[in-house]
Amino acid sequence: MLQDTDNPIYDLIAKEKKRQIEGIELIASENYTSTSVLQAMGSILTNKYSEGYPSKRYYRGNQYIDQIENIAIDRAKELFKVDHVNVQPCSGSSANFAVHLAFLNVGDRTMGMSLDAGGHLTHGSKVSVSGKYFDSVNYGVGDNGFINYDQVRKIALDHRPKLIWTGLSAYSRVIDWKEFRKIADEVGAILIADIAHIAGLIATGHYPSPVPHADVITTTTHKTLRGPRGAMIMCNEQYAESIDKAVFPGTQGGPHNHTIAAIAVALKEASTEEFKKYSQQVILNAKKLADELTKKGYTIVSGGTDNHLMLTDVLKSVNLSGKEASLALECANITVNKNAVPNDSRKPWDPSGVRIGTAAITSRGMKEKEMEKIAQYIDTVLRNSNNEDLIKKIKLEVKNFTKNFLIPGIN
Ligand SMILES: *Cc1c(COP(=O)(O)O)cnc(C)c1O
Repeated sequence: MLQDTDNPIYDLIAKEKKRQIEGIELIASENYTSTSVLQAMGSILTNKYSEGYPSKRYYRGNQYIDQIENIAIDRAKELFKVDHVNVQPCSGSSANFAVHLAFLNVGDRTMGMSLDAGGHLTHGSKVSVSGKYFDSVNYGVGDNGFINYDQVRKIALDHRPKLIWTGLSAYSRVIDWKEFRKIADEVGAILIADIAHIAGLIATGHYPSPVPHADVITTTTHKTLRGPRGAMIMCNEQYAESIDKAVFPGTQGGPHNHTIAAIAVALKEASTEEFKKYSQQVILNAKKLADELTKKGYTIVSGGTDNHLMLTDVLKSVNLSGKEASLALECANITVNKNAVPNDSRKPWDPSGVRIGTAAITSRGMKEKEMEKIAQYIDTVLRNSNNEDLIKKIKLEVKNFTKNFLIPGIN
């Protein structure tokens, strides 16, 4: 057993588990998977090589692996109502890299939402391969914090990208997929919807689906979908072959079969009534938390949220940078990430905002009442970030508070 063979790692896992139990997890991209997902992920499936796709493998002995991958694919097709699914990408970034490879040559033009407006690194940021090897242009949000579709259209018409990326990492509003479809058609671009953050909300009908508007949909499986750390690419039959080839052999070798099995398990869980209720509560909680913070004088970008996350301009609200605010909150066992706000005047490693999400705390069973409490904790910490004694006191309160909320897969 690990405890005997490798005590340092065993010990650190135990400490991390305690940290997860005793803290309020507000990082918008995180969640807690179920015991069943963890079991599949920690299984002997990791021993098997299966380069290729079901019934088209390069190695023998894949009779069970084929069935597992097919179950994962079928469940994803059913849940998201799509024609074709590739469940092999190891993570969201590798899925997006494969999409670039499927449709573009080096130097071709792409367009995506800028990082500070709430897009993702892999949508053309200059520090990512998506912006280094491809000629990427950005769109942002208007002064009100919402996507301005006339601006997006103008940028698309001016630059005529081959790919248009939509999707969000820190944008709290509904994306008008249909309008993006129109814009893509006007310039002859392929439209990609990256639903990494909102997959669980979409699967349960609580956020509009990009089907049938987007040509290709990429997603992670570990955020609101509450599965293992992994990803999927979905598309119609027209693009199936290019996508599959771009994943393997284009950008990856052997698929992570333990993860694929865990994705299958998570997809089954995501199709239940219970998960539907969970997803709805995630959004109700985010709205409540945004309202409470607003009442306490915080600036929320765009004035609120339609999904599981919000971006708080802490510089404007309490005169702390995102780094300072996230550090102070961490001292009180509340985890958030620093995040740029639209047109941020500060640098990405110390921006003006923090991103707050409710997917993880909702998995612990927290509801609106708890959002009031959490807003209160956040406010006390941020307005007293130099008062060590008070922050220690809040940390103790947070530890006590979290005791009442079990974590799936842990308690
Ligand atoms: C999280 C995220 C990704 C990247 O996923 P990783 O698994 O971290 O590589 C890609 N796109 C969007 C929109 C994301 O939010």
